[in-house]
Amino acid sequence: MDLVRRIFSRDARELASSDDNDDLAPMRSEVRSLALTAKGFLSEEEGDRLFILAQRCSRVAPCVEIGSYCGKSTLYLAEGCRYGRYNLFSVDHHRGSLEQQPGEAYYDPELFDQKTQRHNSLPEYLKNVERAGLLDCVMPVLGDSVSVAKNFAGLQVSMVFIDGGHSLANVEGDFVHWSRLVIPGGYICLHDVYLNPEDGGQAPRQVWERAQSTGSWRSSGILGSLGVLVRCR
Ligand code: SAH
Ligand code: MG
Repeated sequence: MDLVRRIFSRDARELASSDDNDDLAPMRSEVRSLALTAKGFLSEEEGDRLFILAQRCSRVAPCVEIGSYCGKSTLYLAEGCRYGRYNLFSVDHHRGSLEQQPGEAYYDPELFDQKTQRHNSLPEYLKNVERAGLLDCVMPVLGDSVSVAKNFAGLQVSMVFIDGGHSLANVEGDFVHWSRLVIPGGYICLHDVYLNPEDGGQAPRQVWERAQSTGSWRSSGILGSLGVLVRCR
């Protein structure tokens, strides 16, 4: 049955309508352990949601993540893509967001490359993806997310996880340029959606609300800070 589904399940609408996880494989425990110990900013329950969505979505079209960092979210998403026909495009320039630069709140000296005198998360990212045995399921894309999206013009993707730059300009740019590539029934997952402003920056929340006000996207709930939107038209 699984093989039949993998080959013939082309109707994107099925992506959104199914709440039934019975036909899904569990995450391999060694990959879960690696994801839990990888540096990064994602809870286990958020990761599990991404794993399940990627497992369903990768049956119909490629999945995309914006903001690979050290590969924490990548491991959950790529592990899901192992079961599908399509891979994960994992986009990051690996130069870090504003808040990850020296002197800022999320600066990590272990990710600072002394040779080039700047942040570089690529070696740690590749180490984690390789250890998890997931290099075959991931296409790492080194570049600015909006520039990459422009090069994807005309292509179709089944889900996009947006966790790159967290300024309003960044989140909105990612949403505008990537959302148009998502097939009906496909997903946009916005990370760091905080309904209470005391919990964190409000840019992802603003984009979350604007997306729904267009009528093209409906909420499939917020888990932790992972807001899940389904394309309804
Ligand atoms: N998803 C990760 C965390 C991402 S942190 C996890 O699970 O832990 C944000 C990442 O977005 C950083 O690695 C940064 O380099 C990247 N980033 C920020 N702005 C970007 C842009 N415009 N294009 C590509 N990557 C960007
Ligand atoms: Mg985040």
